[in-house]
Amino acid sequence: DHPEQAGWNLEATYGELPELFYTDMKPNPVREPRLVLLNEIVAEKMGLNPEALRQPKSVSILAGNTFPEGSRPLAQAYAGHQFAYFNRLGDGRAVLIGEQITPAGDRIDIQLKGSGRTPYSRGGDGRAALGPMLREYIISEAMHALGIPTTRSLAVVSTGESIMRETSLPGAILTRTAASHLRVGTFQYAAHFGGQEDLQALADYAIERHDPQLLGNTERYLKFLQEVCDRQAKLLAQWQLVGFIHGVMNTDNTTISGETIDYGPCAFMDIYHPGTVFSSIDAEGRYAYGSQPQIAAWNLSRLAESLLPLIHENEDEAVSLAEDVIAGFAEKFHQYWHAGMRAKLGMREEEEEDLPLIYDLLTLMQRHEADYTNTFLDLTFDTLDPDAALVQSVEFQQWRERWEMRLERETADREQSREWMKQHNPAVIPRNHRVEEALQSAVDKGDYSVLKKLLNVLSQPYAHLPEQLDYRSVPSVCGPYRTYCGT
Ligand code: AMP
Ligand code: MG
Ligand code: MG
Repeated sequence: DHPEQAGWNLEATYGELPELFYTDMKPNPVREPRLVLLNEIVAEKMGLNPEALRQPKSVSILAGNTFPEGSRPLAQAYAGHQFAYFNRLGDGRAVLIGEQITPAGDRIDIQLKGSGRTPYSRGGDGRAALGPMLREYIISEAMHALGIPTTRSLAVVSTGESIMRETSLPGAILTRTAASHLRVGTFQYAAHFGGQEDLQALADYAIERHDPQLLGNTERYLKFLQEVCDRQAKLLAQWQLVGFIHGVMNTDNTTISGETIDYGPCAFMDIYHPGTVFSSIDAEGRYAYGSQPQIAAWNLSRLAESLLPLIHENEDEAVSLAEDVIAGFAEKFHQYWHAGMRAKLGMREEEEEDLPLIYDLLTLMQRHEADYTNTFLDLTFDTLDPDAALVQSVEFQQWRERWEMRLERETADREQSREWMKQHNPAVIPRNHRVEEALQSAVDKGDYSVLKKLLNVLSQPYAHLPEQLDYRSVPSVCGPYRTYCGT
C-alpha cells in the first residue's frame, strides 16, 4: 500500500520561477480525512489508479496531510482587480502539490482547495465548507460535459473538522485539476511587484505551457496576448450559449489557459434576461449575464497593460499593438457566438438574415419571460407549450414562420437540422433547485445518492435521454435565487 502505486507522476516547474511568485509551504494537516467523492474518469485521465486513490494513504494525500513522491507543495502569489479594485492576492486557501504528467503527456496542476491558511490568507481561515466544494465539483463537471473548457474536480475529502461561517459547517478539501493556475492576475502581480526579468520569466513560462508554438518567435508576447484573447473569446461565447453566469469575473479568476475557473457564486440562467445576476455580493450587476463579454475584454486589457514592456521597447508602439489585439476581442467573440447561435437554431449555412433572426428571438424570450434552455429544446423537438406567453404572442408566431422558411432554404433537410440542434442544445443544465437538493441531501444527511444521480444525468447533456426529462423543470414558485462566494 505505497502511495506511489496510485500513479503519481509529479513535476514542479512552477517552482523554477523567481521566488516572488510563490511560497513553499505544506498545507495544515486535518484531523479525520474521509473521501466522499472520487472522479474515476478524471483519475484515469491523470494516470491515477482509482482503487489506490481510495486507500487511506492516498486519502491522506488528498487531504494535504502527506505528500506523494515528486511533490513540492506551494502557494501561488497573484494580484487582481476584484470588482474593479486592485488587490494583492494569492492562494489564500489552496496549495499546489505539483504538476501531474498524464499518460497523454499533458502537464496538469493538482491543487488542494480548502487546505488551510497561507501567507496570502489575509483575514480568512484558509478553509472551505463541504457544500460549496461539492457544488464546485458538480458544476465544473457539468461544464466539462457541456464541452466547455474548465478546471475539473478529482476528489472531495471531508476533513472531520468544523469551520465557522454564519453557523458551524463541516469542512472539506477539493482536489482541483487545471491546465494551469496562471491568471491575468498573475501577470498583474508580476507587472506591479516584480521587475522586467520577473515578468519575462512568467510570460516565457506561460508560453511554454500554453503556446509552445510561439517559443523563439520574436513577436511572441504580442502573439501570446492574441492567443489568450482568442481562448477567452471562445470561452465567453460558450458561457453565453448555455446561459452560464460566472458571478465573480475578477481578473484573478480569468485564466491564461482559457479554462473556466473559480466556481463560487456561479449559476445557470433560467428565464432569459441579459441583466440576470445571482451573486449576493454583486449588487450593482457588474457581472450580469449580458455584461460578461465586455468584462472579459476589460480583464484582457489588464493583461495587455501588464505585458506592455515585453511587447515593444517603445511604449507608444506597444500600446498601439496591444490595443489592436484587444479591439479584435469583440469581433472574435461575436464570430464564435453567432456560429453557436446558428447551430442552436439548426442553421449550418450563413445568411444575412440570421442575425436579426437570432436577436429577435432573444428579444421575444426576454419580453415573454421564456426559459432560455427549454425554449431552444422545445424548438428542437417541436414541443413548445401552446399556452405559454411566448408562443401565444403574434410576434413569435411570425418569428417562427421566418425561421421555418429559413430552415427550408438549408441544404440539409429538416431531420438533419434537428440533429444539428440536438448537438447544440443541452437537454439538461445544473438547475439551481436540483443542485441545492443534491447538496442538502449530501451535507445534511450524508446521503450522496441524489448528488450522484444528478452528476450522472449531467454527464451527457447532448444525449437527450428519457431520464433527463425530469431535470428540465423549473420550479414554478421560486423567489430570487442567491449565490454566495468564498464559503
Ligand atoms: P475568490 O473570490 O474565490 O476568487 O477568492 C479571492 C481571494 O480570497 C483569493 O486570494 C482566495 O485565496 C482568498 N480566499 C477566499 N476564501 C478564503 C478563505 N476562507 N481563507 C483565506 N483566503 C480566502
Ligand atoms: Mg479565485
Ligand atoms: Mg472562489
